[in-house]
Amino acid sequence: MPRSTRIDTIVVLGAGYAGLRCISTLAHARQHGSLHARLVLVDRYPYHQFITWLHEVASEAIPAERARIPLDRLLPTEHVDFVRTEVTHLIPPERRVLTDQNDFTYDRLVIALGSDTAWPPIPGLREHAFALRWWEEAVRLRAHIRRQFAIAGRAKRRATRQRHARIVIAGGGFTGCQLAGEFAHWLPLLADEYGVPLDDVHLLLLEAQSRLLPAWRRWVGQRAERVLRRKGVDVRLSTPLERVTKDHIVAGGETVETHTLIWTGGIQAPALLAESGLPTGEQGRVHTDAFLRVPGFADLYAAGDCALVRDAAGALLPATAAHALRQGAYVARALLAEIAGEPVEPYRPRHLAMFISLGGGDAIGDVFGFPVRGRPASLIKEGVERWYHNVITFASRMHEEEE
Ligand SMILES: Cc1cc2nc3c(=O)[nH]c(=O)nc-3n(C[C@H](O)[C@H](O)[C@H](O)COP(=O)(O)OP(=O)(O)OC[C@H]3O[C@@H](n4cnc5c(N)ncnc54)[C@H](O)[C@@H]3O)c2cc1C
Repeated sequence: MPRSTRIDTIVVLGAGYAGLRCISTLAHARQHGSLHARLVLVDRYPYHQFITWLHEVASEAIPAERARIPLDRLLPTEHVDFVRTEVTHLIPPERRVLTDQNDFTYDRLVIALGSDTAWPPIPGLREHAFALRWWEEAVRLRAHIRRQFAIAGRAKRRATRQRHARIVIAGGGFTGCQLAGEFAHWLPLLADEYGVPLDDVHLLLLEAQSRLLPAWRRWVGQRAERVLRRKGVDVRLSTPLERVTKDHIVAGGETVETHTLIWTGGIQAPALLAESGLPTGEQGRVHTDAFLRVPGFADLYAAGDCALVRDAAGALLPATAAHALRQGAYVARALLAEIAGEPVEPYRPRHLAMFISLGGGDAIGDVFGFPVRGRPASLIKEGVERWYHNVITFASRMHEEEE
């Protein structure tokens, strides 16, 4: 018979999809008197980022400010202490979190630190490439491309114009394809604005493997390739990136002049997790047990991109916002059950429908093996994203109504 457990402090690391969903659910319980533990949320940014919209921020499809919300507007601050700081290390045996300011102690820790861009050792990549994983990166990329088109518009020599108006995306996965789809609509608008002939604009999408979206079913990648080519994207498969400098790249043995390479070739969980002695696997993600706890550490939970969760057949669940939200909510429920001394149901990992947007109202959906395409897929994806937005802002709205 489970007994109730005294838990004084719950610390959640990361205010992304998983962390925010978890802390909002716990804060709601605290507001209603069913939880008395102190709640602490830690993040390096003072806002929640709608990462799933970053390709739209980078291409001016939406205003940048729509993709971030200050945390103090989202959280009931009398129930959650938010600390803005960089987490640097964990010491699980001492139940301590080290940061670049103060240390924290906890009774239960939820690790929801997401993932970051993976940087393989390709010469020049880290120094010269742009990434698209955080809001600030999307805003920086957008400003850089605008500058390139402004230079291209003033250039006298065609070769100079083409070098500045050529955008290369390396990595034909989820992020790369979505970004290429948006850029295919945005670059012609920029060309018009800065007086760059359309013939001098070139959008290149490189993928090292023989198909786009290699982690998805084959037909999804084939369909994405057809749509992107139709929009004018120069898709090059089996073309690995070999070298990057400030004015050219080398890929598949060919030199291509450009000042803009965006690296979307992979993600990895924060290195601090493995460095802190936690058991990690693919992409540096932390292993989890049936209750999303870190094996060997009954007081540590992991959720979202940084957690390694497998389905019943042993297949790794993809790193998506949909999984992160579901896992964040589960961890909150598991903690509340543990505190109340109620039995905790194991987490039920399952594959979810997936949608990829390709710009201009085009999208592809894989609904458990059934394809959905074009405008219907795009409308469903927009609906799903509105749902994410509502789920994330739900706690704050409820809090405001109660005041
Ligand atoms: C361009 C793009 C488009 C995408 N589109 C989709 C989509 O359409 N659908 C979908 O399901 N998924 C999509 N994804 C994937 C999705 O965004 C991620 O799976 C999701 O963000 C994971 O949520 P999370 O809570 O695990 O991590 P995050 O949302 O990344 O949150 C992690 C948090 O931890 C904080 N943090 C990290 N390290 C530290 C540290 N050391 N110290 C302090 N704070 C730290 C970060 O600031 C962040 O707030 C997309 C991703 C990208 C990049």
